[in-house]
Amino acid sequence: MGRVYNFSAGPAVLPEEVLEEAAREMLDYQGSGMSVMEMSHRSAVFDQIIGQAEADLRELMNIPDHYKVLFLQGGASLQFAMIPMNLMKNRVADYIITGQWAKKAAQEAGQYGKVNVIASSADRMFSYIPDCSDLPVSKDADYVYLCENNTIYGTKFHKLPDPKGKPLIADVSSCFLSEPVDVSQYGLIYGGVQKNVGPAGMVIVIIREDLISKDVLPGTPTMMRYQVHADNRSLYNTPPCYNIYICGKVFQWLKKQGGLEAMKERNEKKARILYEYLDQSRLFSPTVEPSSRSLMNVPFVTGNPQTDAMFVREAEAAGLVNLKGHRTVGGMRASIYNAMPTEGVEALVSFMKTFEEAHEPCTKFSV
Ligand SMILES: *Cc1c(COP(=O)(O)O)cnc(C)c1O
Repeated sequence: MGRVYNFSAGPAVLPEEVLEEAAREMLDYQGSGMSVMEMSHRSAVFDQIIGQAEADLRELMNIPDHYKVLFLQGGASLQFAMIPMNLMKNRVADYIITGQWAKKAAQEAGQYGKVNVIASSADRMFSYIPDCSDLPVSKDADYVYLCENNTIYGTKFHKLPDPKGKPLIADVSSCFLSEPVDVSQYGLIYGGVQKNVGPAGMVIVIIREDLISKDVLPGTPTMMRYQVHADNRSLYNTPPCYNIYICGKVFQWLKKQGGLEAMKERNEKKARILYEYLDQSRLFSPTVEPSSRSLMNVPFVTGNPQTDAMFVREAEAAGLVNLKGHRTVGGMRASIYNAMPTEGVEALVSFMKTFEEAHEPCTKFSV
């Protein structure tokens, strides 16, 4: 079997060119006589890799000079603790709850201080983004936290909340580099890279310099201090070298595609193909309110769990894999990250049309 169209939410599809290039360099990285996996993180050749990766990311996202870029381990979930341990000086933080990842982050922060839930979409199964134009931000809050793209529920903040002068902290794991961002709007942006950028096990943190300090909560481990990693250019200890190398290749690939403006255009086009079909389908329904829809994660249902399961099975046999919805919500979910080609989305819609014809709801026949 050749390569499939992989709609996994993460770890997820990577650009084929990147994988091919990495394969070519596997045994001998650019004349070094060794794989990137085998080389010292203190070597000149690796220094070039991490330096170029950071420079390319800065260029892609137009990151201002007074922000640090950190390549860290522990995935996105370790940030749920690192953020409060480093930033909760008053031991108060405001959280916007738009799904399970935000909820988990809030629960973790609750171990270190008082967490105020200042907006939530739990009342309708996280199927929309709540109005955040006039949030009851707490006077003594150290920051305002949101999960910008909700991987499980398929919602996205299309307009950032107004944090009323507090630093805005965003988990962008599943929308990282999918469209241009104004970094200056945030105090800290972070994302686990396995959704849209690279191999699992690394998180990229972009943090405004004035938020980095020695003054962290008592007991914060050395490895969990932003200052330690910032002072050491992410080389305090052995970093996830191979992940950094692959992410660097993805940054290069994104630049070749025309950067984030071009990605946004392409991602909008891909998402439109799928949503337009879903909105008129007699069998499949999208689950998210139109104004809150994600460009990256598209959940949908037939309303019948057996039909859902049959669809997922038959799609897989047709080379369209990992379409099963998150275990907590059921139905289907197509994750159509940067590296998913338009042809993949077209193939999915074409398969859905065929499936729909064969399994149209009985209402059509009861006329
Ligand atoms: C997947 C995901 C996480 C968790 O990432 P890990 O790297 O597994 O810790 C957190 N937030 C969002 C939005 C995610 O999609």
